[in-house]
Amino acid sequence: MARIKEKKIRQLKKSRVWITLIVFALVIFFTSVFMTGFSSAFLYYLLDMKMQGQYEAVMHTARLYDRAIISGDEDVEELLLSETDNATYFVRDNEGKILHENGENTCSEYGSELLPSRMRDPIRIYADTKQGFIYADEEGLTVDTQLLYQWLRTDPEVKRDIRKGEKPLELPVWLALNVNQGKEQFCYKAFFQVDIKDAILLLSAAGVLLFMVIVISILMISNVISSIVGQRRMSAIFFMDEVTGGHNWMWFLAKGEPFLKKRFNARRKYAILDLVFVKYRNYCVCHSIEKGEKALCLVEQMVRKKLDKKELCAHYASANFVLLLEYDEEEQLKKRIEGMLNELEQIDPVHKFSFHVGIDLLENVVDKKGNPVRRKTIDLEKEYNNACAARATLNDSDDSGIAFFNEKLVEEQRWLDQVQEKQQEALEREEFLVYYQPKYDPNTNLLRGAEALIRWHSPELGFVSPGQFIPIFEKNGFITKIDHYMLEHVAKDQKAWLDNGYACVPVSVNVSRAHFVESDLAEQIRDIVDAVGTPHEYIELELTESAFFDDKKALIATIMKLKEYGFSVSMDDFGSGYSSLNSLKDIPLDVLKLDAEFFRGDMKDKRGEIVVSEAIRLAKSLDMRTVAEGVEVKEQVDFLAKQGCDMIQGFFYDKPMPKEEFEKKVATVFI
Ligand code: C2E
Ligand code: MG
Ligand code: MG
Repeated sequence: MARIKEKKIRQLKKSRVWITLIVFALVIFFTSVFMTGFSSAFLYYLLDMKMQGQYEAVMHTARLYDRAIISGDEDVEELLLSETDNATYFVRDNEGKILHENGENTCSEYGSELLPSRMRDPIRIYADTKQGFIYADEEGLTVDTQLLYQWLRTDPEVKRDIRKGEKPLELPVWLALNVNQGKEQFCYKAFFQVDIKDAILLLSAAGVLLFMVIVISILMISNVISSIVGQRRMSAIFFMDEVTGGHNWMWFLAKGEPFLKKRFNARRKYAILDLVFVKYRNYCVCHSIEKGEKALCLVEQMVRKKLDKKELCAHYASANFVLLLEYDEEEQLKKRIEGMLNELEQIDPVHKFSFHVGIDLLENVVDKKGNPVRRKTIDLEKEYNNACAARATLNDSDDSGIAFFNEKLVEEQRWLDQVQEKQQEALEREEFLVYYQPKYDPNTNLLRGAEALIRWHSPELGFVSPGQFIPIFEKNGFITKIDHYMLEHVAKDQKAWLDNGYACVPVSVNVSRAHFVESDLAEQIRDIVDAVGTPHEYIELELTESAFFDDKKALIATIMKLKEYGFSVSMDDFGSGYSSLNSLKDIPLDVLKLDAEFFRGDMKDKRGEIVVSEAIRLAKSLDMRTVAEGVEVKEQVDFLAKQGCDMIQGFFYDKPMPKEEFEKKVATVFI
């Protein structure tokens, strides 16, 4: 696939949704980190603030207890009770022995030390064994929210209290301080009180954060959705064919290549097709572009209906469609396409359409053992081009047809390329040679004329016969240069022979059908011959029979002018293709050349003889001379002599020969 197309498809496939998703994930991550950090910091701060009074009270009691111990005060118990306001507490020594206590001891075993703000001495925190919602970690006091939530949900009394909002919620925690020079520990059951205001504050903070997260999430999700929708829309536009509304070539490339490279496709056989609506442009000219495009839509829809899920179809351009079909056998594929074409031909109830199909069979890749392996590379553009090259071989026909791409086609294309590349240089280097094939009078066996036939002696391609390059030149227009070249060389040869006093005979030069589009062709021919100085009666011009089906008026005008200038004009290959009898009626030609096909085989067929003798008779009645081409055997010569044929040009007498050899023939007879 061409780099630019590949890049475009890659860019389109590149999902911008991923970027949004990554941003979204990052935002969610940082928000949750921030939320957790913020809520725990808020909680620490709240607990610290709310417990401040209780810290101070415990500290105060502990100091009084210390003082009472030092002063040997007996009534420690009373002091504690009054100072703690009859709250729950206990004092234990280092062995854990309880020295004083009030209320139920629900202090847990393990605690952590922390330094509350605005206090000099650290304090030890123990969770309550019954309601251990509050405990201490490295940062400070914290709440086991899960446990708390469970309690709030399950205890009906607490639920009721919360609903009423009259009594604050009391969460117990044990605060402990070392007393009596570190020999004892004073533990006090404190309560973290949460009233309705705290709950509202906490809930509003959580609500704000939740709201932020929801807003961010909505924004991000809508961004992701709009990205996906936008990308889908972009792809649809990029891959949509504007004429048929189906898929286009870019879609075919983007889908086809990765599909064919899939492992499960290694064994499967696939073919790329180029399907063309023949004479589409003509149809548009005769009807309208709109109707033409409608027809293309119908073609696309019908083809798509005929495809399997794993097969692809796209509109390439103009009247061309590209298809990827799976097949088992070549013959079965051909039959399937024939069936498809049959239906396509009848798409329009009024017009019978025709279609050309070029097929390129994709090769299966095999390993050293011959087992099919995954296609690692595939160039669909190249394969489609092959299909197009195969399809182009059908160009000469207007009927529906199918052509397979093969090695022969590659060779032909290579040959075509070589010929076209070398043609101009070959002309300049005079690699084209004039060969002469004599024409004889069958009654006297005397030389009466000759035809100039081109040969190409190429240093690189070798000796090339006209059949291999004339059709190419006719197609690419180079034939007009060749015709001028031949005419000039023949005129020069004739002039030289005449100057030498040889008994020259008229030499015919082939003029290609493609040449007749030039309105001044007769003048061009005259000027070339006059530039050399050869008398016009020594030059004859051969037109192939098929030329008579082109613009007849222009053809007649040119022929009339040529005759006026004194050149003879002949109809070459008479009887080879379409009947041109009608042309004989309108155009006063000098010579009728009977096509070699009349003389193939041994002419035992009576009907063949009748046609030839009648053709000669017809020519005579129209005051035309006759030349029989391709005569190889004596019986044919005798027959033609008897029928009054004027000249014979064939291997029976001579093959086309180089100039030097022909020169010897004209040199033997002096005027
Ligand atoms: P054409 O003009 O009909 O030439 C006659 C062809 O028949 C020549 O083939 C000639 O060699 C061949 N031929 C003659 N007698 C016999 C025979 O007894 N047996 C067989 N088997 N063949 C015979 P060639 O030279 O290969 O030329 C083929 C065609 O190429 C010509 O057919 C003509 O259409 C074209 N051509 C040749 N030279 C030129 C040229 O200079 N200009 C143009 N425009 N076309 C040319
Ligand atoms: Mg000829
Ligand atoms: Mg001929």
